[in-house]
Amino acid sequence: MNSSDDAHTDLFSIKLSSFLHEIRLEKKAVRERAFFLCEYCYSPERLSANRFTVDHVIPRSLNGSDDLRNLALACRRCNERRYNFVAGIDAETQEVVPIFNHNP
Ligand SMILES: [Zn+2]
Repeated sequence: MNSSDDAHTDLFSIKLSSFLHEIRLEKKAVRERAFFLCEYCYSPERLSANRFTVDHVIPRSLNGSDDLRNLALACRRCNERRYNFVAGIDAETQEVVPIFNHNP
């Protein structure tokens, strides 16, 4: 490995470290915004055996973004049950409504 390779590796490491730091900050922001509660069922993360995950409200597979407005804290059960569903039928009105909305 020559000095050019070393410099390239160092630059890659710095960019990767910065990227991972941004992801950690973003996840922290989502957790704090949600008051550490699942944003679907409101169960508290502190009572869960598993750390909650940051879920994409509109899944990435449906071109959902990584923007904070498209992220929600989810317990494992809600994250696994929701899969790629973004809407459901309201039992009272029979209307199709979004499953989750930060700004109802
Ligand atoms: Zn939940």
